Amino acid sequence: MNPVNGEVSFWQAQLGRGESYAPLSKPTSVDICIVGAGMTGLWTAYYLKREDPTLSISVVEQRHVGFGGSGRNGGWLNSAVAGSLSTYAARRGHAAALALQQAMVATVDEVIGVAGEEGIDADIVKGGVLRVARTPAQLVRLERMAESALQWGDVHVLLDAAQVRERVVVEGALGGLYSPQGARIHPAKLVYGLADAVTRMGVVIYESTPALEIRPHQVVTPVGAISARFIVRATEGFSATFKELHRLWLPMNSSMIVTEPLADSLWEEIGWHGSEVLGDSAHTFMYAQRTADNRIAVGGRGVPYRFASRIDRDGETPDVTIDELCTVLRTFFPVLDRVKIAHAWSGVLGVPRDWCATVGLDQATGIAAAGGYVGHGVATTNLAGRTLRDLIFGRDSELTELPWVDWQTRRWEPEPLRWLGVRSLYLAYRLADRAESSGRPTTSVIAKAANFVSGR
Ligand SMILES: Cc1cc2nc3c(=O)[nH]c(=O)nc-3n(C[C@H](O)[C@H](O)[C@H](O)COP(=O)(O)OP(=O)(O)OC[C@H]3O[C@@H](n4cnc5c(N)ncnc54)[C@H](O)[C@@H]3O)c2cc1C
Repeated sequence: MNPVNGEVSFWQAQLGRGESYAPLSKPTSVDICIVGAGMTGLWTAYYLKREDPTLSISVVEQRHVGFGGSGRNGGWLNSAVAGSLSTYAARRGHAAALALQQAMVATVDEVIGVAGEEGIDADIVKGGVLRVARTPAQLVRLERMAESALQWGDVHVLLDAAQVRERVVVEGALGGLYSPQGARIHPAKLVYGLADAVTRMGVVIYESTPALEIRPHQVVTPVGAISARFIVRATEGFSATFKELHRLWLPMNSSMIVTEPLADSLWEEIGWHGSEVLGDSAHTFMYAQRTADNRIAVGGRGVPYRFASRIDRDGETPDVTIDELCTVLRTFFPVLDRVKIAHAWSGVLGVPRDWCATVGLDQATGIAAAGGYVGHGVATTNLAGRTLRDLIFGRDSELTELPWVDWQTRRWEPEPLRWLGVRSLYLAYRLADRAESSGRPTTSVIAKAANFVSGR
């Protein structure tokens, strides 16, 4: 039987909540209007309201809570910085970049702490992050990652093949890199839990309410405008749908599959008793988690980008991508040869031209925004929420000093250059991975050239 395809995501389907809040029915006025009920929007609402319970805050969402990446992701809550630390350091200094990495390390615990305080059961297990190498070239990359992480004060431990097997039995793993600062989460449980928390605090969420236009101090919707002192644009990978932002963040695609729950006998062969989130170090990176109900969810790039920044329909995923992800799953875990795939889905994430995330507030228009997390948004959205709180309160803090605040990036090229560029980039990465799989170390030349062209 074919897996369920799309329906936003497996996580959403598992909760079966869909639309839970009424749409906006008439024009209104509030202190703060947030556009987008994903993690950025809801964390921002949470921290603003916690700081000042008298603020009136509305969140408008085109579909439903967690409709974007926040309800579709791989559930890696980790300390990876959304962007290149050396790029941040080159413009804003080494100490600022170091502070950003430290802030991300602390953010993992902040999310876990708030989930505990607010009674959000999001299947969180802080089992760390395990990256494996299945080729000599990947092993070299892991060693470099370990050195770089150490330089930025984020401790990672190199593992040999036997130490990897003690954690997870990945076919052909030559070694690994382990970071304790990571957790497995159920994304939809976290984002709906946050929505419940903020509505308990008095924030009003309007679902099925698209923002047609964002103007200074005004969000225009089909039933009239919401006037606000501040507006927070929290639309990340969807931002390209606003005309003026079309080339700001490229909507990069990521796709996932999830198995049926696995029998205990299979888990005896695979191990994975620590619920580490699992990835590799290929150029076309895979990421995975063992779910709380004993499935394996695996993600990867699939079709990286759609012409003219088009976005998928409700997570619908091409068959070829599902087949590719099944091959990844079965290559990592040959014992899963006959296991059924329950669900496949996709989503978009925002990628700036220099792959560096940003958060900021334009005082003149009252419009704030955060995003461009390049697939590292689960933790970064929380840091964004706290930073936006400080910016909106006009407060200088350690957070507002971080180098990603008001980070400016040049725009993506017009089409067809954008499409050709991204397609060629991923073709180069795939070629590099294929050659590395046959034992050749030299292909990093292709990948390096691709990185240079892409600005990574
Ligand atoms: C398949 C996949 C796997 C991923 N895995 C991971 C992972 O394991 N770890 C990690 O750290 N990151 C991961 N990411 C990235 C992460 O999910 C995102 O960075 C993060 O969720 C971004 O949150 P957000 O709230 O900024 O944006 P979103 O969650 O995309 O929310 C934006 C919201 O804005 C709404 N919206 C858009 N336009 C409008 C409009 N005009 N009017 C009203 N509402 C609007 C959307 O409907 C959406 O609900 C993954 C992403 C995908 C797609």
